[in-house]
Amino acid sequence: MDKKTLKQFEKALTLRRTELQGAYRDKLSRSGDAGADGALDPADEASVNYNKEFWYALSDADRQTMRLIDEALRGIQNGTFGECSHCGKPIQRKRLEAVPWARHCLECQDLQERGLIE
Ligand SMILES: [Zn+2]
Repeated sequence: MDKKTLKQFEKALTLRRTELQGAYRDKLSRSGDAGADGALDPADEASVNYNKEFWYALSDADRQTMRLIDEALRGIQNGTFGECSHCGKPIQRKRLEAVPWARHCLECQDLQERGLIE
């Protein structure tokens, strides 16, 4: 995958991540539980160190998405982005455009949905 394309995916991933963070930051501040330690700064590169309130406020699905986004962003850093984590083949471009944090190619996604692989 060329650098320009990677950059685009990185941008899409970062944006989605910021959206998720933003949505929950609003929720937290409305409920008066916001951690005022600045841990939710979207510019903060320490992506795994969310504060606890934030992490627990996320729905399971969003938590999972956050994990996958972080994983995908790491993949961009170390050059494995776009490879299926199960079979190692390139994930279909269309699939990545729809879901940039996809871990599996379509075939393996199907296996995963049927509970045959992780
Ligand atoms: Zn695969």
